[in-house]
Amino acid sequence: MEFSSKLLENAVYEMSQLPGIGKRTALRLVLHLLKQPEERTQNLSNALLKLKQDVNYCKNCNNISDTEICEICANPKRDKSLVCVVEDVRDVMAIENTSQYQGLYHVLGGKISPMEGVGPQDLNIASLVKRVESGDVKELIFALSSTMEGDTTNFYIYKQLERFNVVTSTIARGISVGDELEYADEVTLGRSILNRVPFENSIKAG
Ligand SMILES: [Zn+2]
Repeated sequence: MEFSSKLLENAVYEMSQLPGIGKRTALRLVLHLLKQPEERTQNLSNALLKLKQDVNYCKNCNNISDTEICEICANPKRDKSLVCVVEDVRDVMAIENTSQYQGLYHVLGGKISPMEGVGPQDLNIASLVKRVESGDVKELIFALSSTMEGDTTNFYIYKQLERFNVVTSTIARGISVGDELEYADEVTLGRSILNRVPFENSIKAG
């Protein structure tokens, strides 16, 4: 792509560093912002910068939150004996949208992926083991996407928790293999949480 301006080229380059944004889309977005009042770009930059600088993760479940303990963890009506293990905040939002789940969450921040150099120590797994160790958790529900990385992560956590008296289950695989949790429709997702199966069964089946 040949640019008539270095300023334009830089802006397009930065925009194209975002996932799913190719050079053409980046150029379209940049030209769009250029046509808008300056305030638009100011607001966008400010919102992103403020998020990056001030973001806080719940001390209990690692969900993104404006308070030390997130609203879900702080809600006395939620069942604290039930913890759903998810990859990131998108999964929490998807499951909350179903209104079928009354337990708490644990946000791992990713999945174990040797290919991408992500090991167990890079994820919020130690804090999950601590939560189970404290004795409040009776059941863990694995809700990671059914990819090889998701399965590896589930199994790793399962092994870490074997010595504790905790039930492990996995959301029913009505969701076809490879589908990301965030794209599952609410009814299917809600049903698969209610119809979850013991994790042991999913190992034998898989
Ligand atoms: Zn929380």
